[in-house]
Amino acid sequence: MEIDWSAIDKKWQKKWLENNDHEIDSNNKEKKFITVAYPYPNSPQHIGHGRTYTIADVHSRYLRMKGFNVLFPMGFHYTGTPILGMAKRVEANDAELIEGFKTLYKVPEDKIKEFVEPVKIADYFHEEIKSGMIEMGYSIDWRREFTTIDPAYQKFIEWQFRNLKEKNLIVQGSHPVGWCPKDQNPVSQHDTLGDVEPDFTEYIVIKFDLNGVKIPVATLRPETLFGVTNIWINPQVMYQKIKVNDEIWITSPECARKLEFLEKKIEVIEDILGSDFVGQSVKAPHSSDSVLILPASFVKSDNGTGIVMSVPAHAPFDYQALLDSKSGKNKSINNDLLKNIQNIEPISMINTEGLGNIPAKDIVEKMGISHQDDPKLEEATKEIYSKEFYDGILANNTKQFAGKKISEAKDEIKEWVTKIGSADILLELTNSPVKCRCGTECVVKILSNQWFLDYSNKDWKQKAHSCFEGMNILPNEIRSEFDKVLDWLRERACARQHGLGTKVPWDKEWLVESLADSVIYMAFYIISKYVNKKEINGNDLTDEFFDYVFYGKKDSGEIANKINITKEKLEEIRNEFLYFYPVDSRHSGRDLVPNHLTFFVLNHVALFPEENWPQEIVVNGSVLMAGKKMSKSMGNIIPLRDAVRKHGADPIRLTILISAELLQDADFNVEAINGIKNKLESMYENSTKTKAEEIPELEPEDKWIFSMLQNLALNVSQSMDKIRLREALHHILYDFDSELQWYLKRTKSKQRTNISGILHKILSSRVLMLSPFAPHIAEEIWEKLGNSELASKSAWPSSIGIEIDSKSIQTETLLKSIIEDINNILKVTKISPKKITIYTAEQWKSKAYNSILKNVLDGQTNIGTIIKSLIANKETEQIKKDPDFVKKTLNDILSEPVELRKGRMNIGQIDEKQIISSELSSLVKNDYDVELSVFSESDSEKYDPKNKAKAARPFKPAILIE
Ligand SMILES: [Zn+2]
Repeated sequence: MEIDWSAIDKKWQKKWLENNDHEIDSNNKEKKFITVAYPYPNSPQHIGHGRTYTIADVHSRYLRMKGFNVLFPMGFHYTGTPILGMAKRVEANDAELIEGFKTLYKVPEDKIKEFVEPVKIADYFHEEIKSGMIEMGYSIDWRREFTTIDPAYQKFIEWQFRNLKEKNLIVQGSHPVGWCPKDQNPVSQHDTLGDVEPDFTEYIVIKFDLNGVKIPVATLRPETLFGVTNIWINPQVMYQKIKVNDEIWITSPECARKLEFLEKKIEVIEDILGSDFVGQSVKAPHSSDSVLILPASFVKSDNGTGIVMSVPAHAPFDYQALLDSKSGKNKSINNDLLKNIQNIEPISMINTEGLGNIPAKDIVEKMGISHQDDPKLEEATKEIYSKEFYDGILANNTKQFAGKKISEAKDEIKEWVTKIGSADILLELTNSPVKCRCGTECVVKILSNQWFLDYSNKDWKQKAHSCFEGMNILPNEIRSEFDKVLDWLRERACARQHGLGTKVPWDKEWLVESLADSVIYMAFYIISKYVNKKEINGNDLTDEFFDYVFYGKKDSGEIANKINITKEKLEEIRNEFLYFYPVDSRHSGRDLVPNHLTFFVLNHVALFPEENWPQEIVVNGSVLMAGKKMSKSMGNIIPLRDAVRKHGADPIRLTILISAELLQDADFNVEAINGIKNKLESMYENSTKTKAEEIPELEPEDKWIFSMLQNLALNVSQSMDKIRLREALHHILYDFDSELQWYLKRTKSKQRTNISGILHKILSSRVLMLSPFAPHIAEEIWEKLGNSELASKSAWPSSIGIEIDSKSIQTETLLKSIIEDINNILKVTKISPKKITIYTAEQWKSKAYNSILKNVLDGQTNIGTIIKSLIANKETEQIKKDPDFVKKTLNDILSEPVELRKGRMNIGQIDEKQIISSELSSLVKNDYDVELSVFSESDSEKYDPKNKAKAARPFKPAILIE
């Protein structure tokens, strides 16, 4: 039956709206507060965005049906620079961008003209995204909507910032940040192409001396200075002699540029080829000896200073390069120099248990490395580095540091070299190249006298760690990622020069950065309702107001007087905050783990008392388009609203959800949508056929199907509680179908006409379970089933009100397995049956069966032991005549699911002969159109021409087909 999806979508969306179903205020029910990362409106939503919101909506709808008062609100994040960049590109008539607006996003031309104003872009896509959310059927309370440039929100952010500053968590300082040299702005994940967070690391620069000119080398291992034997330079690279503040340095040009951003005054004096330095001697900071500058091809100009120190005992690269130099094959080494090189030996200066005296030599030989450009050297370096870092002890030739562990001495040595004036630092991007959205390659810059969130603060980190410990993280495997992020977080610039947003309250030249003003906004959803209803004026909001609403500070009457609302209204806002906070579940994509989600926790623990800390984070993966990553350049982005118009909201929702659990990538493809549509259409069709007739006295198959339905409800509820939505959907849509088919076959063969009420009850339960996932079609079917209340307002069918009947489960399993056996025999023998005879096992076998089953459940599966105990018992000693019986029965039992085994133990013996006679005859008649005869193995007058009866086992009767 074809469904008009669009008509059904509109019908039910209208009904929910008329009923104000998603407008949630505090009441006397238990609450749940579900939030999702709000969208940044610089483009319409595509299928990929739809995943997180759909998961959160399903979660909200499920919890509502479980009886909770669930608030699911939405806001829009205008803050930041990307919209600004887009407006500039529109102004410059950027053909690619404008073409994208026209063809991909279908923006009317007169609108595009307005896009020279950044806010117009945000406003346009804000409405576009909101319409898409309504069309997807998200149960959002739109009364609480806001944007981050609303005056009231800006007051809220000012309060947040003043509060953090008072707590010394926003500090002024000089710290490194990712930086776009073109925009002159710090960059974080949201500002870069491909959404990568610029990550950087600090190198120690040790300065060697060449007649007053500094030869700087960058290293992560300053402690190895004591093992230095020479310096490596790349003879092919054109280096620069530069003035760095008051010193003269030799570095690669790339390094000179990096230094400019690190608060140094750089002046280029001249270019000098690397080979010019080969053979010269430099003085090391730690001793009066000189070391040679030697040529090496593995030294790269874009790494560090482009010059490195050589520690051949502990650095595999250096060891190999030294071997290469000694070989005499290097043309840039003349004979005199070669003689001197022959005298260079590795200097061992770290003792590590499990490593030899010259560990670099050992590993180079072990890995079969033969030249300095061998990629295996990276791996060798890492291996030695980590062993020496954790277990290495500095040897006697390290002077005052001898006997110290590397992990402890590292910083001391760094301090010492700095103190004697021979060290500096160099910051390098570890994931370069990182490109700004404007296309410029980012650098690391030391931003001085700027405002930083002090995420390096140990107490703050500790508090956040303890919040995470008490939180539910779904899926739990992502938990360790949060711990790692917290540990590496450092000071983070929280102000920007350009963009939309709130001004830093004490320094109005600067704007609050977009990952700083989007971390506690969940609390603002409480206030925005009153602002939107005009019960408070956004411009009136003061710090006192927020302190009262969030902390209950001071007298409500006094504060109310000052800001033009009634005392009662102010108290109502405070009470609503107390009711809805904390956030019960925060949904987000995985890309926000290293920033937004972690900051969300950090800012909550800083600003709110423990009872208002977040309770749960749910993280999901992305959506692939027919197996491929979605991207503009691939041309495979499907705007969400287009997809809804074409396929209907519910098929889109289910297709996104059914292909993957939380962290996996979901796959969206046309076959999957069609499969879902067919399935929903067939459920819809069934709803027109069943009526809510009275349920008759239950027959065995009725008891069984209700038991299966109860099982389904339990399984689905368990999956829902863990947000295992793929699993839940499979249970609801597909797994139950085979049970239903068996039931229909049984009732048909018994020629029953009184099952409509039962089918109605089954479909009703399934539709209710489907309702959070596919809310529109579920309401439609629910209505067809004769209900006047909404499905979304009905109780979740955790229990169908009928107890699980173990005996009927055993009975139906037995009948199914006999039918299966008959079919198998017919398949093998290819005969058309004229008569079917079944033999059930005799009494002692049942006793033996129960005894074997008990052994299995107790964990005893040793045949010898079981046989002995059976023979020792008078009631089962007959197995002596039939020694194969134990082995076969044991296999029968072990091939059954554990639940079924337990059920068998609990109900004990069942009368197989009676059950088969009364329940199977009709099935056999129906399926094969022959008569069925049933005998017990022990019947004296049985028909048994082929002597089959003796093969019967409990739950595995013998079958004769003629
Ligand atoms: Zn830029």
